[in-house]
Amino acid sequence: MNIILGAGIIGLFIGYNLLKKGQKVEIFDNSEYHNAAWKASVGMLAPVIEAKTDEYDLYKLMTKSKSIWDNFLLDNRLSKKIGLKKNSSLLIAENYDDLEKIKIKKKFFKNLGFNSQLLSVNETLKIEPELNSNIVGSLYCSNQNQVNPFFLRNFLISEINSFGVNIKKLGEVKKIRILKNSIELDNTQINAKNIIIACGAWSSNLLKKSFNISLPTIPFKGVSLLIDAGRELFKNNIWFKNIYVTQRSDNILSIGATEQQRGFDDKIRMDELYFLTKNIWQSFPELENLKLVDIKSGIRPGIVDGNPVIGSIECISEKLICAFGHYRHGILLAPITAEIICDIILKNKNNIHKDFFSPQRFNL
Ligand SMILES: Cc1cc2nc3c(=O)[nH]c(=O)nc-3n(C[C@H](O)[C@H](O)[C@H](O)COP(=O)(O)OP(=O)(O)OC[C@H]3O[C@@H](n4cnc5c(N)ncnc54)[C@H](O)[C@@H]3O)c2cc1C
Repeated sequence: MNIILGAGIIGLFIGYNLLKKGQKVEIFDNSEYHNAAWKASVGMLAPVIEAKTDEYDLYKLMTKSKSIWDNFLLDNRLSKKIGLKKNSSLLIAENYDDLEKIKIKKKFFKNLGFNSQLLSVNETLKIEPELNSNIVGSLYCSNQNQVNPFFLRNFLISEINSFGVNIKKLGEVKKIRILKNSIELDNTQINAKNIIIACGAWSSNLLKKSFNISLPTIPFKGVSLLIDAGRELFKNNIWFKNIYVTQRSDNILSIGATEQQRGFDDKIRMDELYFLTKNIWQSFPELENLKLVDIKSGIRPGIVDGNPVIGSIECISEKLICAFGHYRHGILLAPITAEIICDIILKNKNNIHKDFFSPQRFNL
């Protein structure tokens, strides 16, 4: 038996993969207490656009995970169920400063081995006629896709349920103990071999309370909007300087996102609402036709070096396995994270370079 603590996208994906490989799984979550990150997530699957100059290892991992998403795309029924769309991304230049910046990005993407295309105003408007006509150009990045995190979560839960496993609701688990043949969650003992900590931004606190281990975590609050456009407005994912937009299959636009360090406070504040609406107002035509559907906030689980924490904490026990810290990339990285965790549990070898995401990098 393997315990998964946390039923966000990471915990669910791991559960789904383990069950498919014939492993026994129990999943626990305390979602009434926390605003999990997936609720606000936009669901971009765009490793190239997310890449940073000093994060080459992470970029390679995102690319590997993206190739798993690309395999899912071959299954039309599955893609429809989870709102997985093969489209591309356009980085929009709204002024000449933006244009210089996207030219620099083009060079950077080329160094990564990815060819993007600089488009003129006319070429951009031909692809996306609903953009404001005062844009000055764009950078076209092919095959930088999206998935609907809500559909994805429902799909994962229903697949997990089909193996006879239900997600168990718990109060706030405060302490874990690893015993010889069992694992204790507060005062409940469970006969289990392994425990996977997939509690997103809350994982570190739990490890601190349970094992007095500190992993340098930063919760990054994010707010996004769901807007009803009433029709298909954009074919591709659109990235403006401060906000990005995906058109979902049901005419809903998901627009993200703010990013601030406000501890674990997930209440939506007026400055966040202002930031999003101001940028939408600057970049979108015909605002009067857009209807607000929902506003969501979530806490991104950040780690100081920008990389996730995946693997056993060897100094405590091989049975204590981390899967958190995915920051802005948790949806994109969920499939590869689940594969890595399965390999650890099944003791399979793989050729993935692990040092940069191993918990051991913190000299525990
Ligand atoms: C605004 C916004 C936009 C984003 N856009 C994207 C995007 O476009 N693409 C992308 O790839 N990523 C995106 N992300 C990031 C992505 O959503 C996260 O990286 C990912 O959802 C993290 O998943 P998780 O399962 O680790 O954590 P969470 O989704 O936070 O889930 C953790 C779960 O653990 C539970 N839990 C916590 N403590 C305990 C405990 N003690 N006991 C039991 N359960 C516990 C919580 O209740 C929660 O259900 C975005 C995030 C935000 C906020």
